[in-house]
Amino acid sequence: MRFPLALTAKIARHIIKHKLKRTPRFALVLQLEPLHTCNLTCTGCGRIREYSTSLKDMMSLEDCLAAAEECDAPMVSVCGGEPLIYPKIEELVAGLLEQGRIVYICTNGVFMRRKLKDYLASIYSPRLEKRLAALVADQLLSDQDLAAIRRGKNDGRPVISPTQWLYWNVHVDGLEYTHDLIVEREGVFKECVAAIRLAKRLGFQVATNTTVYKETDVRELEQMFEFFSSLEVDGHTISPGYDYDAAKQDMVRRLGKKPEDFFLTRALTREKFAKIQEWGERFTIFGTPVYQEFLAGKRELTCTAWAIPTRNIKGWKAPCYLMTDGHYARYQDMLDQVDWNRYGVVNGVVRDPRCENCMVHCGYDPSGALGTNYQPGDHWKNFKYNFWPRPAPSKTGHLVQAFNGCSLGKGHLAEAKAALKSGLAGARSAFGNNGHGDAKPGAGTCGVGDTSQRDLVLARLRENGQSKS
Ligand code: SF4
Ligand code: SF4
Repeated sequence: MRFPLALTAKIARHIIKHKLKRTPRFALVLQLEPLHTCNLTCTGCGRIREYSTSLKDMMSLEDCLAAAEECDAPMVSVCGGEPLIYPKIEELVAGLLEQGRIVYICTNGVFMRRKLKDYLASIYSPRLEKRLAALVADQLLSDQDLAAIRRGKNDGRPVISPTQWLYWNVHVDGLEYTHDLIVEREGVFKECVAAIRLAKRLGFQVATNTTVYKETDVRELEQMFEFFSSLEVDGHTISPGYDYDAAKQDMVRRLGKKPEDFFLTRALTREKFAKIQEWGERFTIFGTPVYQEFLAGKRELTCTAWAIPTRNIKGWKAPCYLMTDGHYARYQDMLDQVDWNRYGVVNGVVRDPRCENCMVHCGYDPSGALGTNYQPGDHWKNFKYNFWPRPAPSKTGHLVQAFNGCSLGKGHLAEAKAALKSGLAGARSAFGNNGHGDAKPGAGTCGVGDTSQRDLVLARLRENGQSKS
């Protein structure tokens, strides 16, 4: 099965219960943002910009757990910011699991191995030595890590342990070169891969989470899926990048760039996602087949943003994860007071100009599960997709040249920073890395024919006075 039976059954029960009660609107997935602090500053991330004045604030553990109880979504996606920075992340995950929720920890992966090592320390006994030695041999743990694990963990705090109710959901937007460019830090992709491999070895479920931008090369996406499939990753979430206000304003004001050069229009989304159904056959792509048809331009759906509500330090964010017209104290207040008919695109008619290009999963994926714009056979399609065996791990993914950036010894961001000191021509040359280590002036970046993303990073580095590491 694509998704474990118990989890599918839990979500199906929740939907059937509300359909029988004729509840007009209800939550399927809670996007819980305990904080907006992040250790990265990715290009295109509106989160850390929209909430830049409250980055130090965070929700209390009690508020987080109460929000999950309040909306009663069967699934909670703990995001942010970087949720592993939240000081009580272990208690939060334990509390949500205790409530019987399916938990996704949406992380950029940088601190994930720390949490996995805490787990190992908590279960340490000499019987683990053989397994630990194998992890050291595979460079997933260092000798220092080993010494810390042997000391055990006795602080009385919970750890994040493997269970079928929990997924690590790791942000990856491409192979090494592209991903490190987007997150604007070298080494992040490599760390993500190490964390994913370690998590899988320890029995965790792991998914990847990818946003597609205008310059994303779909061939690279396929390679990325193949690579992670060969690591036996349990599934992939993929969504089009949307030009929401916070990200758009940042791009215009700070970088002097046109958002349309970076984000997808509806037409471009359909172009990029034309093969998503084929990918769904080959890889464990999460999301309903109905949503996939929508992304591929084969049908219309109506936005159901209320089904994936966002709760953060300011309250329940309306109308959706991306757009902010207000925050409400209670989920029910938001449901009752927002005029939901103002949003989305219905049968080609744009209700709010800001929704025009949006096809993101947090607005439309639930629509596929909830049967809006229902067509005969949709339920069977969704059932078959989830209950059929999941695609086998890729046999060729290990051949993908995933480490095509700084792992080759060509630190492209460092090179760019150095090159910026000698002017943009030098920077162009530094970015002319085609992924095989041979830098050529004017050459395209690896797997990416368009240079707008590179230009954004260059502009940003220039503005920051090369201060980032
Ligand atoms: S890791 Fe996530 S929250 Fe942090 S900057 Fe990147 S996209 Fe934003
Ligand atoms: S279509 Fe829905 S999810 Fe997309 S921006 Fe509009 S309200 Fe938000």
